[in-house]
Amino acid sequence: MNDNEPKRENKNFIEQAIEADLKEGRFQNVNTRFPPEPNGYLHIGHAKSICLNFGLAKSHGGKCNLRFDDTNPVKEDNEYVEAIKQDIKWLGFDWDALHYASDYFDQLYLWAEKLIASGDAYVCDLSAEEMREYRGTLTEPGKNSPFRDRTPEENLELFRGMKAGDFPDGAKSLRAKIDMSSPNMNMRDPVMYRILRANHHRTGDTWCIYPTYDWTHGQSDSIENISFSICTLEFENHRPLYNWFCEKLNIHHPRQMEFAKLKLSSLLVGKRFMLRLVKEGYVNGWDDPRMPTLSGYRRRGYTPESIRNFCADVGVAKFNSTIDIIRLENSVREHLNKIAPRRMVVLNPVRLTITNWPEGQVEYTEAINNPERPEDGRRNVPFSGTLLIDRDDFKEEAPRKFFRLKKGGAVRLRAGYIIDCHDVVKDADGNITEILCTYDPETRSGSDTSGRKVKGTIHWVSEEHAEKVEVRLYDRLFTTENPGSSEDGKSYIDCLNPESLSTVTGYAEPEIRNHAVGEQVQYERIGYFVVDQDTTDEKIVMNRIVPLRDTWGKMEAKGTTN
Ligand code: ATP
Ligand code: MG
Repeated sequence: MNDNEPKRENKNFIEQAIEADLKEGRFQNVNTRFPPEPNGYLHIGHAKSICLNFGLAKSHGGKCNLRFDDTNPVKEDNEYVEAIKQDIKWLGFDWDALHYASDYFDQLYLWAEKLIASGDAYVCDLSAEEMREYRGTLTEPGKNSPFRDRTPEENLELFRGMKAGDFPDGAKSLRAKIDMSSPNMNMRDPVMYRILRANHHRTGDTWCIYPTYDWTHGQSDSIENISFSICTLEFENHRPLYNWFCEKLNIHHPRQMEFAKLKLSSLLVGKRFMLRLVKEGYVNGWDDPRMPTLSGYRRRGYTPESIRNFCADVGVAKFNSTIDIIRLENSVREHLNKIAPRRMVVLNPVRLTITNWPEGQVEYTEAINNPERPEDGRRNVPFSGTLLIDRDDFKEEAPRKFFRLKKGGAVRLRAGYIIDCHDVVKDADGNITEILCTYDPETRSGSDTSGRKVKGTIHWVSEEHAEKVEVRLYDRLFTTENPGSSEDGKSYIDCLNPESLSTVTGYAEPEIRNHAVGEQVQYERIGYFVVDQDTTDEKIVMNRIVPLRDTWGKMEAKGTTN
C-alpha cells in the first residue's frame, strides 16, 4: 500500500478509543488481526475490515495478523484459505503472522480442563432442542440444566470421554457455568465444545470435539498478543463473554471493539447468499465480474486503490446504514480517470466514408494517451477513408443542440480532421448503412490552420485496421436497491437483473492488442474496460468496469469525457 493515500482529518471512534487506551497505559501497542472464516470468498465488506485492521496496526507501528477462524469444519475448505490470502495481498496488505484458530486446539482443550477444575464449566447432556427450551427468552430467564451441578471430577472424566470419542455426535456438550438468568442470552451457560465427527481441513480426524467461536476467539487473540480485537456489531452482545473467558483464565486480555458492517445498496455480500448464486449457477463462479467479491472486483477491473479509497472515504460507523453503491463506482472512475490510457473503440458501428480521401491512403495520427498524465505520451492511430463511428453519434435530422454528426453538419474526429456530412446511404428498410462525408485537409489535429470551430468531437476507428474485441457489458447484478428485503416480498433471486451481462463486438484501434490481461483502459466517451483472462491469441475479451457516467440515474458522476 502506498503512503500517499488520502489522509483523513478526523479520527473515527475506534482510533479515538485506541489513542485513549495508549495514552492511559491500558495497552502499549496496537496489534490487530483480520479473522476470516475460510467458508467462502472475501467480499467488499471484508475489504473494510481489512483496511481498518491493517491500517490501524500500520499507522501505530503495531502488527496485524491473518488468522483463519476455522472452528466449523463442515463449511471450511482450503480453496477458500488460498483465495483469501490472494485477495488480501491483491488489496495491498501483508500480514505479520499467519495463524489458524485450529493451531490452538490443544491449548484451548487444556484451558477447558482448567475451567472444569475451577468449577466454571460442566458437561451437559441436554439435546440441542432441550437446551433451547432451558435457555429462556429475552423476556424470561432460563432454567438451570439438571447437569449443572456435576462435580469437577465427574465433568473432567466426561469431557475426556467426549474427546476420546466415547459419545455420539451431539450427545453432550461442554458449557460455561455463568448465569441462566442473565439478561444477555450469550451469558446463559454458553456452549464451549460440541461433539462433531467431521474432517477438518487442517487437523483431519484428530478431533471429534470442536470449540465454538466464543470459546476460541478471545483466547486466540490473547495467545497472539492482540491488543484490539475489532469485529462487527453483531458481536457486541458477545463482548461480556469474551471478557469473562479472559478473566477466568487469567490471560492477556485484549479489548474487543465493534463497528457497523459495511452494507451497500443493490448488493448482497453475505457468504451465504453468494454461495447460493455460485452453486446454483446464477453467476459464473466466485470471481464472476458481477460478484461483490474481491476476486470479482479484480476480474471486473477495479483497482485495489479504488477499493481502499472507498473504504477510507466511507469511514467507520457505530450504527448500521446503507452506503450508496455509486460511491464505490465513483471511486473506481476517479482512480481510472487518472491512470487509464484512452483508446478509441466503437461498440455500435456504422460505416463512414470520406469521399474526398485519396484512394488507399493511410495516415497515422498521434493521439494523447491520457490527458491527465501527459508523461504517458502518445500513440499512433491509423486513419483512412473508411471509418466506423458509433451509430449514436449520427442523426440524419437532429435538434439544434445535437453536437455530434448530422446530415449537413460538421464534427471533429478525435485526433483527426473536421468532417462535413453531405449524404447517407440506406438499405431497403430505410436503415442507414453508410454515412458520406468530406474531410477538410486543413483541420488536422495538432496542425489545424483553418481557424474552423465545431462544437462536437467524436471517436472513430479505421475499418480496415480495426481490431475486433468481445466486449462484455456488465451491469449491476440486482435491479433493486435492497435485494431480498422483505419489504416487497420478493426473494433476492427474483431481484436478479436479467441484463446484468450482454456481449457485443467492439471495433478497436490496433493499440488495444498491446494490453495485458488485467490492464484497464478508457474507451473514449464510453467507459472503463479491462482485458479479461479469457483473452487468447485469437480473441481479445474485455469487461466493462463502469460506464463513464452513472446510468442508474440519481447523480451525475464525475468521469471526464467530451
Ligand atoms: P459474511 O458471512 O458476510 O462473509 P462474516 O462476518 O461471517 O460475514 P467472517 O469471515 O467471519 O465473515 O469475517 C471476517 C471479518 O470480517 C470479521 O471480523 C467480520 O466482522 C468482518 N466482516 C464481515 N463482513 C463485513 C462487512 N460487511 N463489513 C465490515 N466487516 C465485515
Ligand atoms: Mg461467518
